[in-house]
Amino acid sequence: EYVILDQQLIPKSEASINFDDRGYYFGDGIYEVVKIYNGQPFAMEMHLDRFRSSSEKLDIAFPMSNEQLSELLMSLLQKNSIDNGLIYFQITRGVEPRNHLYTRQSAPVLTAFTQATKDVATPQEKGLTVWLTDDIRWLRCDIKTINLLGNVLVKREAADHHCHEAILNRDGIMTEGSSSNLFLVKDNVLYTHPATNLILNGITRQLVIKLAKENNYSVVEEPFPVEVLEHADEAFITSSSVEIAPITAVKGQLTTVFDIGPVTLHLQKKFAEILPK
Ligand code: PLP
Repeated sequence: EYVILDQQLIPKSEASINFDDRGYYFGDGIYEVVKIYNGQPFAMEMHLDRFRSSSEKLDIAFPMSNEQLSELLMSLLQKNSIDNGLIYFQITRGVEPRNHLYTRQSAPVLTAFTQATKDVATPQEKGLTVWLTDDIRWLRCDIKTINLLGNVLVKREAADHHCHEAILNRDGIMTEGSSSNLFLVKDNVLYTHPATNLILNGITRQLVIKLAKENNYSVVEEPFPVEVLEHADEAFITSSSVEIAPITAVKGQLTTVFDIGPVTLHLQKKFAEILPK
């Protein structure tokens, strides 16, 4: 198994990271996850654009062009013969003696690995149980940073309550999942949090909104309170990993159940049509 370290393809067993990498001290870096279908990355351009946008928001100067990075990532996919799975890539701000104040002198460190899809339960078909809890994250959730403590804590909390995913509310307003975006359906209208600093603007979210509009559904991107969950007809989460996954039950701060409904099924069908063949 090969990985990318500092723009080189090397065997994973030979990869080692500098002790003074700011990724370790501060979680000072950004990442992307791209799904691979039949050997082809899905929506790579959108992920590369968001990667660049995250790096700019964090004042990390990343010297490679999208084309160069994309080529390098493709060479890793080929080296590891990945047909279906994902590619993860990140940059940290680089190596400096530990100090909160970064100097803008360090070179970003790029790492990437691939993962083949395992034969696991398919949340897309069976639906998921989600745990409703407080959004304890910082106020720049729009940046896809590797500093994910708020996300990992709520994910553990959800799992400890036998739920697949945590869905979050900030002061009573629903934001998103710990690693996904949240949609509700009511009377054939879709509702989801607007792409502000309080959520990550998921690539899957953006594609689902586009597909929904193309199929004549209205999409309302406005904040909605927790209680609306109880009145929704359908609910689902989206992410590169799970695509569109129906929510069948909510537990935690509020308890409710959903059937896997026709709008979710329709959008899943349309989404499958845009995936690489
Ligand atoms: N929101 C958060 C917090 C995430 O971590 C993710 C993905 O991991 C998403 C949303 C979904 O984003 P995407 O559809 O780009 O995978």
